[in-house]
Amino acid sequence: MLQFIATIPYLDSLYPVCLLALFWLWETWAPLFRWQQSRVKHAVHNLLITFLNKAVMAVCFSALTVSFANAAGIRSIGLLNNITLPDGFEIILGLLFLDAWMYIWHRANHVIPFLWSFHRTHHSDNHMDVTSATRFHLGEHLISATLRLVLILLLGLSVWHLVIYHALMVFTTQFHHANISLGRFDQWIRLVIVSPDMHKVHHSREQIETDSNYAVVLSIWDRLGRSFRLREDPKTIEFGLDDYDEPKWQTVWGMLKTPWRKK
Ligand SMILES: [Zn+2]
Ligand SMILES: [Zn+2]
Repeated sequence: MLQFIATIPYLDSLYPVCLLALFWLWETWAPLFRWQQSRVKHAVHNLLITFLNKAVMAVCFSALTVSFANAAGIRSIGLLNNITLPDGFEIILGLLFLDAWMYIWHRANHVIPFLWSFHRTHHSDNHMDVTSATRFHLGEHLISATLRLVLILLLGLSVWHLVIYHALMVFTTQFHHANISLGRFDQWIRLVIVSPDMHKVHHSREQIETDSNYAVVLSIWDRLGRSFRLREDPKTIEFGLDDYDEPKWQTVWGMLKTPWRKK
């Protein structure tokens, strides 16, 4: 187990990069939207802020998060460490709790103005592709990771819960942000997980559509939370935020300044 934990930072870097390369190829081969501007320039800005966030988060939270999960297990802290369940069921329940939490957290980012000021960085992207999946403000990551430490102690989450959920989340977020179309298969995919057609509605400029489809991995949370919404033709969606179309808001510096912009 300890040997495996030691490899997490390497897996955590290699796995998203391999997936990114795969979706990038898929987008090249069969894009949903044809690019009117430089696709590479857009990717460079989004990947630069991703790299910056990753570096800070690795230093501040990687070891801390693992030590919280280990401490919860050793000291029997949290719900899952105080109830007896079959092993597989305990893993599935922990993953469901994490995914439900991500739905609540994402919805809170749209409802609470302080959180929205950071989350705007994700929505100000006026083009969508696989690199949009990791375009977030560092402030959002820092608040989210701090709350996750509390969640680990409340629910008694293990390192396995965190690693498996992270792997699922990386795959689904890259998948549903990618500039791809599954055609009629999308309707079958979104019965289970958040599909590209579903998440593209969330990035629409129309407020009623932005305030929908908050789920991260499983689509059921939007159905339960009555926030599930579709656009008949996803190709008619305009991405971005009205006040952030100037090129300066699409740069790394612009993204970092986004929360402090006065309207
Ligand atoms: Zn959002
Ligand atoms: Zn998104």
